[in-house]
Amino acid sequence: MVYWDHAASTPPYDEVVQTMAEVMKKHYGNPSSIHRMGEDAARLIQRAREVCAASLQVQPSEIIWTSGATEGNNMAIKGAAMQYAGRGKHIVTTEIEHPSVYDTCLALQRQGYEVTFLPVDGKGKVDPAHVASAVRKDTILVSIMHVNNETGAVQPLEEIGRAVKEANPLTLFHIDGVQGFGKLPVRLKAWKADLYTLSAHKIRGPKGTGILYKREGITLHPLLTGGKQEAGMRAGTENIPGIVAMSKAMRMAAEQTEAFMAQVGALRDELLAWIGTNPVLEPNSFREGAPHIVNLSFPGMKAEVLLHSLEEHGALVSTKSACSSKTAEPSRVLLAMGRSGDAASSAIRISMGMTNTHEELQQLISALNAAVNRLQPLRQEGMK
Ligand code: PMP
Repeated sequence: MVYWDHAASTPPYDEVVQTMAEVMKKHYGNPSSIHRMGEDAARLIQRAREVCAASLQVQPSEIIWTSGATEGNNMAIKGAAMQYAGRGKHIVTTEIEHPSVYDTCLALQRQGYEVTFLPVDGKGKVDPAHVASAVRKDTILVSIMHVNNETGAVQPLEEIGRAVKEANPLTLFHIDGVQGFGKLPVRLKAWKADLYTLSAHKIRGPKGTGILYKREGITLHPLLTGGKQEAGMRAGTENIPGIVAMSKAMRMAAEQTEAFMAQVGALRDELLAWIGTNPVLEPNSFREGAPHIVNLSFPGMKAEVLLHSLEEHGALVSTKSACSSKTAEPSRVLLAMGRSGDAASSAIRISMGMTNTHEELQQLISALNAAVNRLQPLRQEGMK
């Protein structure tokens, strides 16, 4: 079996697995304890914080540990909405955000906040001019992702950040960076990011760990109350094995970004070129997108059928994103890009990592070719 689902989760580095086991075994003290084992655990967390901060070129005090990006996105959006409700109750986001942002905004809408969902173009991009005209005096937060998890579309964050701050310097800019870190350069200062979310398991770290970067000077209303961990921002005993392992994964992913872009980008280009030669497949990803995600539609065929056919040929891919693949609806992201309901229901996502080889890609292309030829007569014209 070859794993082509790296946007859903990634194989952890060996160093990450070893670190997790070692820290669990040796450093089990509670970092809030004031004896030496507690201090030892607290030191490990501090060192990990410094490593993660250095990878983002920010201050260690600006890093908050979370259980992953779902928590980070909730903490950023709900935390800002609650903290700054006095300034206004308007939030701007897009139609293509991950559910941990999109559904969080819907939840706030039900609580009386006003949310503007910006559209995207046919390639899944947000127009910075739309951001500029959406931001108002009472806009407390703009939340826009770096790389879309279904299509790999990359947002023009520098232009968007500038548009946000020119329209209203008090509006906070939050970026869901989950699918971009380690895959593309990250420039939080140039993007004017106030809040930035990451998840360890997307960068070959452990599941259940993430960070929220919160720029110095910003206050968020905490989601969890209890102990005073994370400067009162997130109560609860820290996940030390996960934190230390995440710092390892972050350092490695940051160091390998250029190699990732070159190596995985070459696989993406080859796959997109082959899709271009196949008359029945329609690409939903483009060369200017992230290096690791290729989304394609096979109109007239339910995505699950193509997925399982590829699985029979030894290739593991996704329909939509892992978080929404169990829902029967067509992809909200593809519909927002103007694709038909049929195209949005027949889309699969192939997402790659550094562990994938050129030979494996050749096998995947053969498998796709065989599956598409076999399923071709079964396509339903009515669905198109
Ligand atoms: N945002 C994006 C863009 C994602 O791809 C994901 C993971 N599917 C998340 C947020 C949620 O991350 P986690 O699994 O760490 O909660």
